[in-house]
Amino acid sequence: MEQQRLVEKDPPLKKDDLIVITGAGGFIAGNLVRYFKRKGFNRIRAVDKKPLYEWYLRVPGVESLCLDVSQEANCHRVCEGAVEVYNLAADMGGMGFIERFRVECLRSILINTHMIEAAYRAGARRYFFSSSACAYNVLLQQDPKVRALKESDAYPAMAERGYGWEKLMSEMFCQEYWAERGLKTAIARFHNVYGPYGTWDGGREKAPAALCRKVIEAIDKNDLQITIWGDGTATRSFMFIDDCVKGIDMIMHCDRLIATPINLGSSELVSINELLSRIEKIAGVKLKRNYDLNAPRGVAGRNSDNTFIKQVLKWEPRTPLDQGLAITYRWIKEQYEKRKQGRRVVE
Ligand code: NAD
Repeated sequence: MEQQRLVEKDPPLKKDDLIVITGAGGFIAGNLVRYFKRKGFNRIRAVDKKPLYEWYLRVPGVESLCLDVSQEANCHRVCEGAVEVYNLAADMGGMGFIERFRVECLRSILINTHMIEAAYRAGARRYFFSSSACAYNVLLQQDPKVRALKESDAYPAMAERGYGWEKLMSEMFCQEYWAERGLKTAIARFHNVYGPYGTWDGGREKAPAALCRKVIEAIDKNDLQITIWGDGTATRSFMFIDDCVKGIDMIMHCDRLIATPINLGSSELVSINELLSRIEKIAGVKLKRNYDLNAPRGVAGRNSDNTFIKQVLKWEPRTPLDQGLAITYRWIKEQYEKRKQGRRVVE
C-alpha cells in the first residue's frame, strides 16, 4: 500500500508575500489577480505576453509585466522572489481554436516546463497549474448523456489531441516536481469557465460567450436567427468565474491535494440548445435556429464528477447557471455597445 507522505506545514501566507500570476492579461488569471488584490495581498506580479493595453483587466497597484513565459530567461525573471506561483498562461481558445491550432496548443508545454523549473529554483513555496477537462479520455465522452468524469478517468490516457495531451504531460511535471524535488504543486482540471472579462469575439471565445454575442447581434441587426455549431445536442457543464477563482485558492492551499489532479467545474449538465434557451430568456427573445453540422463541435458530452472536491474541500462551484449567464450577458452587451460607439473594448 502507498504510504501517506508527510507534508511539512507552511508558515502562514503574509499579505506582502509575492504572488506571481501568469496569463494575467487573459480571462481567468485576470480575475484571479483581482481576487487576491481584494483579499488584501499587496505584492502581486501579473504577467502576460499580450501588450498591456490588450489585457482584459488591469488591476491598480499590481506589478504588470508584458513577457513571454515560453522563454526560459523570462520565467526566471518572473519567478524571482515569488512565494506562490500561479501558472495560467496558455495558448488556448474554444473548440474552433483547439481543433485547428494543435501545434500552438502543444507548444504551451514550453510555458509550464520553464515556469515550474523557475519556480522551483526561485524557492517558491507552492506552484499552481491550470489543467483542463480536455485531459480526460475522449472515449468516455461519446454520448450526450455522459457519466460525469471522475479524476481517475484521465488514464488509460486518450486525451483531446494537442491541447489535452499538453495538459496531461504538464500535470505529470507537477507530480514529479513534488515527488522528486519537494515542490508543493496544485493541479486543477477546469471544466468550461465563463463570465465577465473573458474572450467574447475574435475566434477564441467559448460557447457561452459566443452564444451571448450572437443573440446580441441578432437583436441589434433585427435578424432574428442564429447559427449554432453542431446539432445543439452536445452537453457540457459551465462554471462561473467567481467559483473558479475561489476554487483555485482553496485547491492551492490544501495539503491533501498536493500534486493531485482535481476537477474544478460545475456539475449542472446542459445541452447547447438548453444553454441558448436560457440566454434567449435573459435577452427576452426567441430566435430561429440554424445548425452548422460542419463546424467544430468537440466531444458529445462532458460533465464534472464533484464527489472528490466535495469530500476534500466540503465545497463545489455552485453559482446557478442562470445567475452567472445574466451577469455575463450584461457584460458582453456593454462591450458590444461600446465597440459600436467606437470606444475601446476587450475581446
Ligand atoms: P485566456 O486565453 O483568456 O488567457 C490565457 C492568457 O495566457 C492569454 O492572455 C495569453 O496572452 C497568455 N499567454 C499565452 N501564451 C503566453 C506566453 N507564452 N507568455 C505569457 N502569456 C501567455 O484563457 P483562460 O480562459 O483565462 O485560461 C487560463 C488557463 O485555464 C489556461 O491554462 C487554460 O488552458 C485553462 N483552462 C481554461 C478553461 C476555460 O473554460 N476558460 C477550461 C479549461 C482550462
